[in-house]
Amino acid sequence: MKYGLVIHGGAGTILPSAMTPELEKEYKFCLQKSLDEAYQSLEMGSNATDAVCIAIQVMEDSPLFNAGRGSVYTHDGTHDMDASIMRGDDLEAGAISGSKTVRNPILLAKAILLHSSHVYLTGTGAEDFAREHNLKFEDETFFHTEFRYRQYQHALQTDEVFLDHSDQKKFGTVGCVALDKFGNICAGTSTGGMTNKKYGRVGDSALIGAGTYANNKTCAVSCTGDGEYFIRAVSAYEMSALMEYKGLNIKEAGQELIHKKMVDIGGEGGLIAMDCNGNYCLPFNSAGMYRGVKMSDEKAKVGFYKDWL
Ligand code: ASP
Repeated sequence: MKYGLVIHGGAGTILPSAMTPELEKEYKFCLQKSLDEAYQSLEMGSNATDAVCIAIQVMEDSPLFNAGRGSVYTHDGTHDMDASIMRGDDLEAGAISGSKTVRNPILLAKAILLHSSHVYLTGTGAEDFAREHNLKFEDETFFHTEFRYRQYQHALQTDEVFLDHSDQKKFGTVGCVALDKFGNICAGTSTGGMTNKKYGRVGDSALIGAGTYANNKTCAVSCTGDGEYFIRAVSAYEMSALMEYKGLNIKEAGQELIHKKMVDIGGEGGLIAMDCNGNYCLPFNSAGMYRGVKMSDEKAKVGFYKDWL
Protein backbone atom coordinates (compact mmCIF):
# COMPACT_ATOMS: atom_id res chain seq x y z
CA MET A 1 0.00 0.00 0.00
CA LYS A 2 1.43 3.32 -1.13
CA TYR A 3 1.55 6.14 1.46
CA GLY A 4 3.18 9.56 1.82
CA LEU A 5 2.58 13.28 1.80
CA VAL A 6 2.82 16.55 -0.10
CA ILE A 7 3.44 19.90 1.62
CA HIS A 8 3.40 23.56 0.61
CA GLY A 9 4.80 26.65 2.28
CA GLY A 10 2.98 29.21 0.16
CA ALA A 11 2.96 30.36 -3.46
CA GLY A 12 3.80 33.69 -5.10
CA THR A 13 6.64 35.65 -6.63
CA ILE A 14 9.32 33.24 -5.52
CA LEU A 15 12.21 33.81 -7.92
CA PRO A 16 15.84 32.69 -7.85
CA SER A 17 16.83 36.35 -8.28
CA ALA A 18 15.15 37.26 -4.98
CA MET A 19 16.71 34.39 -3.04
CA THR A 20 20.07 34.23 -1.29
CA PRO A 21 21.89 30.89 -0.97
CA GLU A 22 21.54 31.12 2.84
CA LEU A 23 17.79 31.70 2.71
CA GLU A 24 17.37 28.95 0.15
CA LYS A 25 19.20 26.60 2.50
CA GLU A 26 16.95 27.56 5.41
CA TYR A 27 13.76 26.99 3.41
CA LYS A 28 15.00 23.66 2.09
CA PHE A 29 16.01 22.53 5.56
CA CYS A 30 12.61 23.36 7.03
CA LEU A 31 10.60 21.81 4.19
CA GLN A 32 12.73 18.66 4.41
CA LYS A 33 12.28 18.50 8.20
CA SER A 34 8.53 18.81 7.80
CA LEU A 35 8.49 16.01 5.21
CA ASP A 36 10.82 13.74 7.18
CA GLU A 37 9.00 14.01 10.50
CA ALA A 38 5.56 13.48 9.00
CA TYR A 39 6.72 10.66 6.72
CA GLN A 40 8.38 8.88 9.61
CA SER A 41 5.13 8.98 11.56
CA LEU A 42 3.23 7.52 8.58
CA GLU A 43 5.85 4.82 8.29
CA MET A 44 5.32 3.93 11.93
CA GLY A 45 1.57 3.64 11.37
CA SER A 46 0.20 7.10 12.19
CA ASN A 47 -3.02 8.11 10.52
CA ALA A 48 -3.09 10.81 7.85
CA THR A 49 -4.58 13.40 10.25
CA ASP A 50 -1.67 13.11 12.68
CA ALA A 51 0.85 13.21 9.83
CA VAL A 52 -0.72 16.39 8.40
CA CYS A 53 -0.48 18.05 11.82
CA ILE A 54 3.14 17.00 12.31
CA ALA A 55 4.14 18.41 8.91
CA ILE A 56 2.28 21.69 9.47
CA GLN A 57 3.52 22.08 13.04
CA VAL A 58 7.15 22.09 11.84
CA MET A 59 6.35 24.95 9.45
CA GLU A 60 4.21 26.82 12.02
CA ASP A 61 7.14 26.71 14.45
CA SER A 62 9.48 28.23 11.87
CA PRO A 63 9.63 32.03 11.44
CA LEU A 64 10.10 31.52 7.69
CA PHE A 65 6.43 30.89 6.89
CA ASN A 66 3.34 33.04 7.36
CA ALA A 67 1.70 30.65 9.82
CA GLY A 68 2.02 30.15 13.57
CA ARG A 69 5.25 31.76 14.75
CA GLY A 70 6.01 33.66 11.52
CA SER A 71 2.48 35.03 11.08
CA VAL A 72 2.05 38.50 9.59
CA TYR A 73 0.77 41.49 11.57
CA THR A 74 -2.83 42.67 11.52
CA HIS A 75 -3.73 46.37 11.33
CA ASP A 76 -3.89 46.44 15.14
CA GLY A 77 -0.36 45.12 15.48
CA THR A 78 -1.47 41.66 16.63
CA HIS A 79 -1.65 38.27 14.91
CA ASP A 80 -4.85 36.61 13.72
CA MET A 81 -4.28 33.05 12.66
CA ASP A 82 -6.57 30.82 10.57
CA ALA A 83 -6.37 27.05 10.13
CA SER A 84 -8.47 24.10 9.02
CA ILE A 85 -8.23 20.34 8.68
CA MET A 86 -10.46 17.70 7.10
CA ARG A 87 -10.24 13.94 6.85
CA GLY A 88 -11.40 12.00 3.85
CA ASP A 89 -12.83 8.81 5.34
CA ASP A 90 -15.69 10.32 7.35
CA LEU A 91 -15.64 13.98 6.17
CA GLU A 92 -15.01 15.19 9.75
CA ALA A 93 -13.48 18.67 9.86
CA GLY A 94 -12.22 21.35 12.24
CA ALA A 95 -11.52 25.02 11.51
CA ILE A 96 -10.60 28.23 13.33
CA SER A 97 -10.03 31.90 12.62
CA GLY A 98 -8.78 34.81 14.69
CA SER A 99 -6.62 32.76 17.03
CA LYS A 100 -4.06 35.14 18.56
CA THR A 101 -1.75 33.26 20.89
CA VAL A 102 -2.30 29.52 20.40
CA ARG A 103 1.14 28.27 19.39
CA ASN A 104 -0.07 25.79 16.76
CA PRO A 105 -3.39 26.75 15.15
CA ILE A 106 -3.48 23.45 13.24
CA LEU A 107 -3.63 21.56 16.55
CA LEU A 108 -6.61 23.67 17.57
CA ALA A 109 -8.33 22.82 14.28
CA LYS A 110 -7.57 19.14 14.92
CA ALA A 111 -8.94 19.35 18.49
CA ILE A 112 -12.20 20.71 17.03
CA LEU A 113 -12.28 17.88 14.48
CA LEU A 114 -11.77 15.31 17.22
CA HIS A 115 -13.68 16.73 20.18
CA SER A 116 -16.34 19.17 19.03
CA SER A 117 -19.71 18.69 17.41
CA HIS A 118 -19.06 22.02 15.65
CA VAL A 119 -16.78 22.54 12.67
CA TYR A 120 -15.68 26.17 12.88
CA LEU A 121 -14.83 28.28 15.96
CA THR A 122 -13.58 31.87 15.99
CA GLY A 123 -11.66 34.34 18.16
CA THR A 124 -11.89 34.13 21.93
CA GLY A 125 -14.33 31.21 21.76
CA ALA A 126 -11.80 29.19 19.80
CA GLU A 127 -9.13 30.12 22.34
CA ASP A 128 -11.38 29.03 25.24
CA PHE A 129 -11.78 25.69 23.49
CA ALA A 130 -7.98 25.49 23.10
CA ARG A 131 -7.52 26.12 26.82
CA GLU A 132 -10.02 23.40 27.70
CA HIS A 133 -8.07 21.00 25.53
CA ASN A 134 -4.70 21.93 27.03
CA LEU A 135 -3.19 23.38 23.89
CA LYS A 136 -0.01 25.41 24.20
CA PHE A 137 -0.28 29.23 24.29
CA GLU A 138 2.60 31.64 23.74
CA ASP A 139 3.24 35.22 24.65
CA GLU A 140 2.62 37.81 21.86
CA THR A 141 6.39 38.30 21.55
CA PHE A 142 6.82 34.69 20.39
CA PHE A 143 5.07 35.66 17.15
CA HIS A 144 7.24 38.72 16.53
CA THR A 145 9.61 38.55 13.57
CA GLU A 146 11.58 41.60 12.52
CA PHE A 147 10.88 40.99 8.84
CA ARG A 148 7.06 40.81 9.24
CA TYR A 149 7.14 43.82 11.54
CA ARG A 150 8.88 45.88 8.85
CA GLN A 151 6.28 44.71 6.31
CA TYR A 152 3.56 45.82 8.71
CA GLN A 153 5.13 49.25 9.28
CA HIS A 154 5.37 49.72 5.53
CA ALA A 155 1.75 48.61 5.05
CA LEU A 156 0.55 51.03 7.75
CA GLN A 157 2.33 53.95 6.08
CA THR A 158 0.94 53.20 2.65
CA ASP A 159 -2.43 51.96 3.96
CA GLU A 160 -2.06 48.75 1.95
CA VAL A 161 -3.37 45.31 2.83
CA PHE A 162 -1.24 42.68 1.27
CA LEU A 163 -0.40 39.04 1.17
CA ASP A 164 2.95 38.64 2.85
CA HIS A 165 4.84 40.86 0.35
CA SER A 166 3.65 43.59 -1.93
CA ASP A 167 6.79 44.24 -3.94
CA GLN A 168 7.62 40.55 -3.99
CA LYS A 169 4.13 39.03 -3.76
CA LYS A 170 4.36 35.82 -1.84
CA PHE A 171 1.80 33.85 0.09
CA GLY A 172 3.48 32.14 3.01
CA THR A 173 0.59 29.95 4.11
CA VAL A 174 1.44 26.33 4.86
CA GLY A 175 -0.43 23.13 4.07
CA CYS A 176 -0.19 19.37 3.83
CA VAL A 177 -2.09 16.48 2.25
CA ALA A 178 -1.29 12.94 3.35
CA LEU A 179 -2.22 9.34 2.57
CA ASP A 180 -1.73 6.79 5.36
CA LYS A 181 -1.11 3.03 5.31
CA PHE A 182 -4.82 2.43 5.89
CA GLY A 183 -5.73 4.12 2.61
CA ASN A 184 -7.18 7.31 4.15
CA ILE A 185 -6.36 10.87 3.14
CA CYS A 186 -6.42 14.15 5.06
CA ALA A 187 -5.76 17.84 4.23
CA GLY A 188 -4.75 20.75 6.46
CA THR A 189 -3.90 24.44 5.98
CA SER A 190 -2.61 27.16 8.35
CA THR A 191 -1.92 30.88 7.85
CA GLY A 192 -1.43 34.30 9.39
CA GLY A 193 -3.44 35.74 6.48
CA MET A 194 -2.75 39.21 5.11
CA THR A 195 -0.46 41.93 6.46
CA ASN A 196 -2.39 44.91 7.86
CA LYS A 197 -5.74 43.07 7.57
CA LYS A 198 -8.69 44.81 9.23
CA TYR A 199 -12.31 44.21 10.19
CA GLY A 200 -11.71 40.59 11.19
CA ARG A 201 -10.83 39.56 7.64
CA VAL A 202 -10.78 35.76 7.25
CA GLY A 203 -9.18 34.04 4.27
CA ASP A 204 -9.74 30.74 2.50
CA SER A 205 -7.35 28.84 4.78
CA ALA A 206 -9.95 28.79 7.56
CA LEU A 207 -12.74 27.64 5.30
CA ILE A 208 -13.60 24.03 4.59
CA GLY A 209 -14.30 23.84 0.86
CA ALA A 210 -12.29 26.96 -0.02
CA GLY A 211 -8.75 26.42 1.31
CA THR A 212 -9.07 22.84 2.58
CA TYR A 213 -11.11 19.79 1.61
CA ALA A 214 -10.79 16.00 1.80
CA ASN A 215 -12.91 13.11 0.61
CA ASN A 216 -11.63 9.55 0.16
CA LYS A 217 -13.83 9.28 -2.95
CA THR A 218 -11.83 12.02 -4.69
CA CYS A 219 -8.87 13.79 -3.08
CA ALA A 220 -7.41 15.84 -0.22
CA VAL A 221 -6.60 19.48 -1.10
CA SER A 222 -4.81 22.43 0.52
CA CYS A 223 -4.68 25.79 -1.28
CA THR A 224 -2.49 28.87 -1.07
CA GLY A 225 -2.83 32.22 -2.79
CA ASP A 226 -5.16 35.19 -3.05
CA GLY A 227 -7.71 34.05 -0.46
CA GLU A 228 -10.59 36.15 -1.76
CA TYR A 229 -10.39 34.40 -5.14
CA PHE A 230 -10.00 30.96 -3.62
CA ILE A 231 -13.10 31.58 -1.51
CA ARG A 232 -15.19 32.72 -4.48
CA ALA A 233 -14.08 29.74 -6.55
CA VAL A 234 -14.75 27.35 -3.60
CA SER A 235 -11.45 25.98 -4.83
CA ALA A 236 -10.68 22.99 -2.63
CA TYR A 237 -14.17 21.57 -3.05
CA GLU A 238 -14.12 22.42 -6.76
CA MET A 239 -11.07 20.17 -7.13
CA SER A 240 -13.04 17.31 -5.59
CA ALA A 241 -16.14 18.10 -7.68
CA LEU A 242 -14.12 18.10 -10.91
CA MET A 243 -13.03 14.57 -10.08
CA GLU A 244 -16.37 13.33 -8.77
CA TYR A 245 -18.73 14.81 -11.34
CA LYS A 246 -16.53 15.45 -14.36
CA GLY A 247 -14.49 12.26 -14.03
CA LEU A 248 -11.13 14.06 -14.24
CA ASN A 249 -8.05 12.52 -12.68
CA ILE A 250 -6.19 14.51 -10.03
CA LYS A 251 -3.68 16.10 -12.40
CA GLU A 252 -6.36 17.11 -14.91
CA ALA A 253 -8.50 18.59 -12.12
CA GLY A 254 -5.53 20.57 -10.75
CA GLN A 255 -4.71 21.85 -14.22
CA GLU A 256 -8.29 22.91 -14.92
CA LEU A 257 -8.72 24.68 -11.59
CA ILE A 258 -5.40 26.49 -11.24
CA HIS A 259 -4.47 27.12 -14.86
CA LYS A 260 -7.95 27.80 -16.27
CA LYS A 261 -10.59 28.72 -13.72
CA MET A 262 -8.34 30.68 -11.35
CA VAL A 263 -6.55 32.41 -14.22
CA ASP A 264 -9.92 33.39 -15.74
CA ILE A 265 -11.04 35.10 -12.54
CA GLY A 266 -7.59 36.63 -11.87
CA GLY A 267 -6.67 34.52 -8.84
CA GLU A 268 -3.00 33.87 -8.22
CA GLY A 269 -1.74 30.88 -6.26
CA GLY A 270 -1.60 27.12 -6.17
CA LEU A 271 -2.63 23.96 -4.39
CA ILE A 272 -1.48 20.50 -3.40
CA ALA A 273 -3.73 17.46 -3.75
CA MET A 274 -3.54 13.70 -3.20
CA ASP A 275 -5.93 10.82 -3.86
CA CYS A 276 -6.28 7.45 -2.08
CA ASN A 277 -4.04 5.71 -4.62
CA GLY A 278 -1.17 8.06 -3.89
CA ASN A 279 -1.55 10.10 -7.08
CA TYR A 280 -0.85 13.75 -6.43
CA CYS A 281 -0.46 17.15 -8.08
CA LEU A 282 1.05 20.52 -7.12
CA PRO A 283 -0.13 23.08 -9.70
CA PHE A 284 0.51 26.82 -9.26
CA ASN A 285 0.02 29.79 -11.57
CA SER A 286 2.39 32.08 -9.65
CA ALA A 287 6.15 32.29 -10.23
CA GLY A 288 6.84 29.72 -7.55
CA MET A 289 5.52 27.69 -4.64
CA TYR A 290 7.49 26.32 -1.69
CA ARG A 291 6.71 22.62 -1.80
CA GLY A 292 7.83 19.08 -1.09
CA VAL A 293 6.78 15.47 -1.66
CA LYS A 294 7.72 12.20 0.01
CA MET A 295 6.00 9.00 -1.09
CA SER A 296 6.79 5.42 -0.07
CA ASP A 297 7.81 4.58 -3.63
CA GLU A 298 9.58 7.86 -4.47
CA LYS A 299 12.56 9.78 -3.19
CA ALA A 300 11.80 13.00 -1.27
CA LYS A 301 11.80 16.20 -3.34
CA VAL A 302 11.63 19.84 -2.29
CA GLY A 303 11.50 22.87 -4.58
CA PHE A 304 10.49 26.50 -4.96
CA TYR A 305 10.45 27.39 -8.63
CA LYS A 306 8.93 26.05 -11.84
CA ASP A 307 11.60 23.34 -12.13
CA TRP A 308 9.27 20.40 -11.44
CA LEU A 309 5.57 19.98 -10.89
N1 ASP B 1 -4.72 32.13 1.19
C1 ASP B 1 -4.21 32.86 2.32
C2 ASP B 1 -5.18 33.94 2.72
O1 ASP B 1 -5.79 34.55 1.85
C3 ASP B 1 -2.89 33.47 2.04
C4 ASP B 1 -1.83 32.54 1.56
O2 ASP B 1 -2.11 31.56 0.90
O3 ASP B 1 -0.66 32.82 1.87
O4 ASP B 1 -5.30 34.24 3.88
